[in-house]
Amino acid sequence: MSIEICGVGKRFGSFVALDTIDLHIPTGELVALLGPSGCGKTTLLRIIAGMETADAGHVKFAGEEATHLHARERKVGFVFQHYALFRHLSVFENVAFGLRVKPKRERPAEGEIRRRVIDLLKLVQLDWLAERYPSQLSGGQRQRIALARALAVEPKVLLLDEPFGALDTKVRKELRRWLRRLHDEMHISSVFVTHDQEEALEVADRVVVMNHGRVEQIGTPDEVYSNPASPFVYQFLGNVNVFHNRVHGKWADVGRDVAGDDPDKTAAGEAMAFVRPHDIDIEHKPLPGGLEALVQDVHAIGPLVRVELAHASELIEVELTRERATVLNLARGQTVWLKPRQIKVFKVLEMALEECGSGI
Ligand code: ATP
Repeated sequence: MSIEICGVGKRFGSFVALDTIDLHIPTGELVALLGPSGCGKTTLLRIIAGMETADAGHVKFAGEEATHLHARERKVGFVFQHYALFRHLSVFENVAFGLRVKPKRERPAEGEIRRRVIDLLKLVQLDWLAERYPSQLSGGQRQRIALARALAVEPKVLLLDEPFGALDTKVRKELRRWLRRLHDEMHISSVFVTHDQEEALEVADRVVVMNHGRVEQIGTPDEVYSNPASPFVYQFLGNVNVFHNRVHGKWADVGRDVAGDDPDKTAAGEAMAFVRPHDIDIEHKPLPGGLEALVQDVHAIGPLVRVELAHASELIEVELTRERATVLNLARGQTVWLKPRQIKVFKVLEMALEECGSGI
């Protein structure tokens, strides 16, 4: 079922929690709402679920007006961060719960309830735990049961609020791959809230990056990561070096022509240049237009080597593969030259920043 959110706004007193949100989610898509704490992700999810009322705008399900539909009538499954399982019910009964509380005329027969619950427990690969109680499960198992319970009523839309937030990194990684597979098997539309950019980029078909109750950018994981629409998105999605006041005409004083072949795309005026640490080359000999810098520190972190360098008063971070680091054999105190492979420039326009060029 497709979901359409048009001009949705929400205030709590004078505080604007959501400001004119527009978002279309086609059937079968898995969308991540990503942003810092307090940016409005949960409020938007609750409005989609019918657990919160918007002050402005509309929500449509499959093209039908749903703004004033009660949560029960929306055919939505909900999974929260804290596994809200019923402690006094077994795993089996937790999953069966949504079916047992249906009005009598809609409630499946007992045999059908048993069949559906067992199928769902097999789907989440926990049928062997059917008789246990929530306190006898691990955190990851509880979240899988919470998901099975949400799916029992055959929702058309699955909404997840930081579903793996309380779990350790390894279990989170396993569960997010598994959520992706499950979503594809069930042919439903899913929206999940996260503040973990890696989780959003790995799992979602599209990522909605939010900040202060607004949408900053909507795009595929690759679009938002490789082509951020604003300085906020650039900084939120991974490490970045920011160079202030270094753009003159179409030349960014960090070793790149930022305007490419387009003479109109000049970056005159105050501007900021953004370069990701893995988009900078290091050489031992001077590079034309390159930045001279002093190696301050070299740390091996898993498959990467992170190099901290000083250029005048700026600290610059570069990430190298282990192979490249071995070839360069860098040591603290060495002078080297840096050249960005990719750079993005945003012009400072009063308070806002406007994109004005990029060099690749
Ligand atoms: P987090 O990642 O921390 O859960 P979030 O992006 O999900 O954050 P929301 O829970 O949507 O953020 O809250 C958005 C803003 O609205 C926050 O500043 C929050 O304090 C405020 N807010 C949310 N619910 C209420 C409420 N019932 N009354 C007053 N303010 C609220």
